[in-house]
Amino acid sequence: MTNPTVENLVIIGSGPAGYTAAIYAGRANLKPVVFEGFQVGGLPGGQLMTTTEVENFPGFPQGITGPELMDQMKAQAERWGAQLYTEDVISVDLTQRPFIVRSHERELKTHSVVIATGATAKRLGLPSEHQFWSRGISACAICDGATPIFRGAELAVIGAGDSAAEESIYLTKYGSKVNMLVRSDTMRASKAMQDRVLSNPKIEVHWHTEAVDVFGNGQMAGIKVRNNQTGEEREIHAKGLFYAIGHSPNTALFKGQLELDDVGYIVTKNGSVETSLEGVFAAGDVQDHEFRQAITAAGSGCMAAMLAERWLSSRNLITEFHQSATVQDELPPQPTQKTEAQEEAGFNLQATRHEGGYALRKLFHESDRLLVVKYVSPGCGPCHTLKPILNKVIDEFTGKIHFVEIDIDKDPQIAENAGVTGTPTIQFFKHQELLKEVKGVKQKSDYRQIISSHL
Ligand SMILES: Cc1cc2nc3c(=O)[nH]c(=O)nc-3n(C[C@H](O)[C@H](O)[C@H](O)COP(=O)(O)OP(=O)(O)OC[C@H]3O[C@@H](n4cnc5c(N)ncnc54)[C@H](O)[C@@H]3O)c2cc1C
Repeated sequence: MTNPTVENLVIIGSGPAGYTAAIYAGRANLKPVVFEGFQVGGLPGGQLMTTTEVENFPGFPQGITGPELMDQMKAQAERWGAQLYTEDVISVDLTQRPFIVRSHERELKTHSVVIATGATAKRLGLPSEHQFWSRGISACAICDGATPIFRGAELAVIGAGDSAAEESIYLTKYGSKVNMLVRSDTMRASKAMQDRVLSNPKIEVHWHTEAVDVFGNGQMAGIKVRNNQTGEEREIHAKGLFYAIGHSPNTALFKGQLELDDVGYIVTKNGSVETSLEGVFAAGDVQDHEFRQAITAAGSGCMAAMLAERWLSSRNLITEFHQSATVQDELPPQPTQKTEAQEEAGFNLQATRHEGGYALRKLFHESDRLLVVKYVSPGCGPCHTLKPILNKVIDEFTGKIHFVEIDIDKDPQIAENAGVTGTPTIQFFKHQELLKEVKGVKQKSDYRQIISSHL
């Protein structure tokens, strides 16, 4: 759908850089449009959606989880009038003014652009990687580590940086042992992280070790590894393999239109966020291969929004949008947590939405509606992303289906019985029969189509 008006500013990306740019531009009455992303360049909310505690973002002396921090930034951007679309940008045309930005759903014209597309986790490309992806291999220990198949099992992490160290330590909560595969004889992780890894009795670091392939029968059962000094090959019988091997900048959209460096990062002018093209600014990890931190990304997002405003103003291009005080003062509703006893007491077969094992057992046996079961785990970024997407679809079918949310950390037995191997997972049941299982985050239309076809 083409929008005939010209936006002041389109922001591409919703990590700390994108949301901070949105907050600043919103407060400057620019009513920025944010493409939050969906799948191609990582999750809406960015890389912090895949981490647990963020201990170094100023203002949170006790730490805050990555998904919580990003929820707060998003709420702040919305409060100041940013228009958010949870969509991937599929192309940009920076050769004409106004610029054109397209997603599958819309095409926008804009006077200025802030690129905050960050970076994406790399994959190794092992021969059997595709076959065992989500059947043992994962790029997100925080999302998938709590699943029942990994509990008490031997696990492995590939990588030698802070992410690999953090994920190895996190996985010791669930696995019997964590093998960390490191290509050389040193780790890139900070000294503090290395100390925590090396002093953890549940982590074994395999130096000079590379993965050759994974194997198993349906579910991954082990990794074939090679010592790159001796050439010796052997097997590690781990049920889970977690990649933590770094990121590539998400700049494919801009190739040939903006100056990129040898590795693909957007080149910005020294000490600034200006790109090779006037009116286009780049913030966060997409232009920073040195610091790569949430606070530096947020800082450069702020710079990008301020420079965009200055640039628009110097060319008399700004259309101002003023918000009413009431809109600005609205705060997002606080979630309420029910105990299991309350759940039991308050169970109502006619209600559409339910939570927890008690409701699932009752509905599985007593419901004659389509039963949609969502399995999530605490701190799982994609679960956060899925929530508003699925909520909207569930609302469309109120009274026609039953929906239950299961926290697999609280109800591991249920997840195990259901064969859940990662979160988020959605299962669709009717008359006690499993009709379909969907892993990860999909478009609203996908869930809508599955539900409609089984009503
Ligand atoms: C496991 C882990 C732990 C970390 N822990 C910390 C920590 O404790 N403290 C800290 O300061 N930093 C930490 N970092 C680093 C920090 O997450 C990054 O520096 C920061 O997220 C970069 O922010 P960003 O906004 O530049 O990009 P990102 O967070 O990478 O976000 C990029 C955004 O762009 C979107 N996008 C990409 N392509 C498109 C497209 N085509 N269309 C629309 N949108 C698109 C993505 O969906 C995403 O929303 C950690 C990183 C990882 C991986």
